[in-house]
Amino acid sequence: MILTVTMNPSVDISYPLEKFNLDTVNRVSKVSKTPGGKGLNVTRVLKQLDDKVIATGLIGGALGMDIQEKLTEMGIENHFFEISGETRNCIAILHEGNQTEILENGPTISQSESEKFLEYFKNLVQEVEIISISGSLPNGLEDDYYSKMIQICNTYEKPVVLDCSGKALLEVLKHEYNPKVIKPNTEELSQLIGKEVSKDIGELKETLKNELFDGIEWIIVSLGADGAFAKHNDKFYKVNIPKIEVVNPVGSGDSTVAGITSAIYENASDENLLKKANTLGMLNAMEKLTGFVNLENYEKVFSKIEIVEY
Ligand code: ATP
Repeated sequence: MILTVTMNPSVDISYPLEKFNLDTVNRVSKVSKTPGGKGLNVTRVLKQLDDKVIATGLIGGALGMDIQEKLTEMGIENHFFEISGETRNCIAILHEGNQTEILENGPTISQSESEKFLEYFKNLVQEVEIISISGSLPNGLEDDYYSKMIQICNTYEKPVVLDCSGKALLEVLKHEYNPKVIKPNTEELSQLIGKEVSKDIGELKETLKNELFDGIEWIIVSLGADGAFAKHNDKFYKVNIPKIEVVNPVGSGDSTVAGITSAIYENASDENLLKKANTLGMLNAMEKLTGFVNLENYEKVFSKIEIVEY
């Protein structure tokens, strides 16, 4: 079993409009409302791969109920911890080729909820083989909260794939409890080390030798259309990917995380792990929907990816 964690899920609402009129009424007919948050994108892709997955995190209010019902309808096992606050809406207005987003902060978590979730999480961790944690922390949780969760996973010797950024990631790197994998993009990497990192391979290789990353087995830096650069213990790899017709790359990082998690779950070789991760990122970019991949194209894309050791 794989456990995915989404600490601040949302109902993602998409409003497609021909024209977005400011300061007046906009009427919309084709509304879509789906369970969102990076961890739930990862979950959906894992489900598509037919991997055994359980989704967890914090959830509350009517929107929280709605998310749980929709996940269950999709056949996704979910064990969320109920909080007193209300799960948020995130709105994307699609207009004239643009995407205007309105993102609610979400609920504030109380001290007692924060402590109780760690107990709840501890029980779930014992039931699974690997944990995938994605996205930002909701208000009320300390910046080192992921570190506390990873400590629990380390205690039970369960590997963690972590995809978060900013202070939450920095706190994890500063603590002694390590995830097995992190997957920053170059922007997140730059934020971490406090200086602009380019996509230059030599520079990336030097950057990943930074002592901040000591003890992390895999660092996979995703480079969008340029593939990825990865460090696995002492080995470095560049992932070269073919050109594709991009429809919507939002969520490609989450699909990549699903690929990494799934590959570790099945004990894949370095080469197959990197190929699976990038194949899924690319398949997501080829579709309109976020966190959706068309697996019919899997082999075609997979076979065109090249892994070069540096
Ligand atoms: P997001 O935050 O939108 O989920 P990200 O910045 O975390 O994305 P990216 O580096 O954009 O992650 O994408 C992850 C992977 O998806 C890339 O390593 C690549 O394999 C694939 N990918 C993303 N964008 C493109 C693109 N434009 N063309 C080809 N492949 C892409």
